[in-house]
Amino acid sequence: MSTVGLLNWTSSQHYDHNGDCPCTQCGKPTPMRSHDGEPVHKVCAEDWNDRNPGAPRHQHDGRDLGTRRFHSDPPRKTRKDGAR
Ligand SMILES: [Zn+2]
Repeated sequence: MSTVGLLNWTSSQHYDHNGDCPCTQCGKPTPMRSHDGEPVHKVCAEDWNDRNPGAPRHQHDGRDLGTRRFHSDPPRKTRKDGAR
């Protein structure tokens, strides 16, 4: 049973332009990085969350974004002032 679902990793911080590193979960090369800079495929991170439902949670503004290790980007703030 998963309440997390898919991670939202749209921030460019999740893509390392320096190249691939071995994924900490499956060992295959990936340019993807977790919030802590850990090399991991997004699907592998989602899979890890599924297999670790008891892991510490990461919350942002009272919303559950996943585990502390692998969690979604916080919802982007819409900037209405100045943006046209
Ligand atoms: Zn992987």
